[in-house]
Amino acid sequence: MSFNIILAGSRGKMGSEAVKMINKEPTFSLVACIDHKNGPSTTQEVQELAGKALPVYTDAGRCFQEVEADIFIDLTNPEAGYINTKSALTHGLRSVVGTSGFSNEEINELSNIAVEKATGCIIAPNFALGAVLMMQFSKMAAKYFPDVEIIEKHHDQKLDAPSGTAKKTVELIQETRKQKQQGHPDEVETVAGARGANMDGIPVHSMRLPGMVAHQEVIFGSKSQLLTIKHDSFHRESFMDGLKLAMNQVGQIEGLVYGLEHVMDV
Ligand code: NAP
Repeated sequence: MSFNIILAGSRGKMGSEAVKMINKEPTFSLVACIDHKNGPSTTQEVQELAGKALPVYTDAGRCFQEVEADIFIDLTNPEAGYINTKSALTHGLRSVVGTSGFSNEEINELSNIAVEKATGCIIAPNFALGAVLMMQFSKMAAKYFPDVEIIEKHHDQKLDAPSGTAKKTVELIQETRKQKQQGHPDEVETVAGARGANMDGIPVHSMRLPGMVAHQEVIFGSKSQLLTIKHDSFHRESFMDGLKLAMNQVGQIEGLVYGLEHVMDV
């Protein structure tokens, strides 16, 4: 089975890696790109990346109307990604979204459209298979270790904080963790933000530095022991096996799933 693909964000760090992966796969064919900039230089840049002539649209709706495709991929930013994915699903186009930073309301809205249009959508804040396992292992550990903090570290060009992976990790941990007031009840921050973001009682610390790609540590504390579950992505190619998996699975999905674990055997 082969798939025609429309990609938004092809000139970005994730998007350009996705183009390389698509070009290597005989069953995938990139048929159009969506970019918020257009003109001869953008088109030339995209076509050079893709290694072939293909249309570049600024208007996602027009692209979905004019180009016959099987899968839409979004690797842009939360604002553009929401608009693009909403439009793709409204056109009944199956969508794989790696863009992170959507609100719960936006995810619910996209889910409703996917159901209404009887199509499939996978939103995965992290396509690295190791990161998905890190989140699953954290969910297992939280049943026995309710005291937990998360440190997520990303490159300094990342727009959203905390990361989609950190938010998803908190959600999974809360499925097994007994409610607990962590730390000292009279704890005071003498500098605002010192204890990180409070997500459902779990402190989440976000670091942004050049040199990093995507890294997370989930640290569980208990009497005289610490359990650290850690994952590092050193290059964006680490996300491509998961993206490929999602592209191959999205045809089997009805409605929207959030998280790659729903299409992995975990
Ligand atoms: P990036 O390098 O900044 O790339 C984003 C790309 O989107 C840029 O080429 C940007 O163009 C383009 N863009 C912006 N607005 C657009 C629009 N309206 N329509 C089409 N394209 C638009 O970012 P990145 O590191 O590739 O990350 C992209 C997204 O993936 C982020 O949300 C990031 O958090 C997420 N991410 C996900 C995973 C995962 O595994 N799921 C892993 C890493 C990152 P300009 O540069 O011209 O503005």
